[in-house]
Amino acid sequence: MSTSRVLVIGIDGTRLDFLDAEPTPNIDRVIGEGFLAPVWIEDGTPTVSGPCWATAVTGTTIDRHHITGNDFAGHRLAEHPDFLTVLTRDFGLHTYLAVGAWPPLATTADHGPMFAAPSRLSFATFGQSAPGCDRGDEAVTGDAVRVLAAEDVSAAFVYLGVNDATGHDQGCGDLYRAAIRRTDERVGRLLAAVASRPDRAAENWTFILVTDHGQVSAGGHGGDSEAERTAWIAACGPGIEGGAEYGRLRHVDVAAHVYAALGVEPGIVLDGKAFASVV
Ligand SMILES: [Zn+2]
Repeated sequence: MSTSRVLVIGIDGTRLDFLDAEPTPNIDRVIGEGFLAPVWIEDGTPTVSGPCWATAVTGTTIDRHHITGNDFAGHRLAEHPDFLTVLTRDFGLHTYLAVGAWPPLATTADHGPMFAAPSRLSFATFGQSAPGCDRGDEAVTGDAVRVLAAEDVSAAFVYLGVNDATGHDQGCGDLYRAAIRRTDERVGRLLAAVASRPDRAAENWTFILVTDHGQVSAGGHGGDSEAERTAWIAACGPGIEGGAEYGRLRHVDVAAHVYAALGVEPGIVLDGKAFASVV
């Protein structure tokens, strides 16, 4: 049985410059053991959650998955599925999705779900406001801690939405900074859950943290400014050399690296490539 496992944490709408400026000791642990790399959202892809997350989790560009906004009508996810669905359906792996802030990732809202068929789902919704997303993030973090500590999960995606919701509600001020620190604390609990696994020493875990887009200082996104078009990926795990220079990455590389880390070759088109070769 493979010992390879992957945890992807999707952290919505988090500016790279704020990540650098705020104390985020848990995210920094992943960066310290691996890398933090900027992602330039490709020309033609709106700086909006739907298309950017679809690009990361399917490993294909907007020209293929056809998700152009936060309503997924017209999507081509059947041809270009998310990595949890591919790993479950085609490789028989146990996968896990946790979403507390943005329903279309996990439900039929707005022509979702983006993740078609994970083995296991934690979902809670308390509305799209910043306080609602904060409650949702907290609820699914608690669930994910229990699942990641004890269950036989090969690949997981945990979505945390409060940073983006706070930017929309309040702009990139003190509350946005506080949300980033709270999200970092949740990341710490997720990492600690994995560390507590009874067989952790015999397992090879890859951790990928990724944001979908940036945010203008007044709050909001969707335009072409550098603040909006700059996203980032942080990762560590087998094959990833700590402290090495990884340059600029692409969102499509996320799914490609998940497959590489698990040692599977999916029979689907991918536009990305692994961050590093995984032996
Ligand atoms: Zn977003």
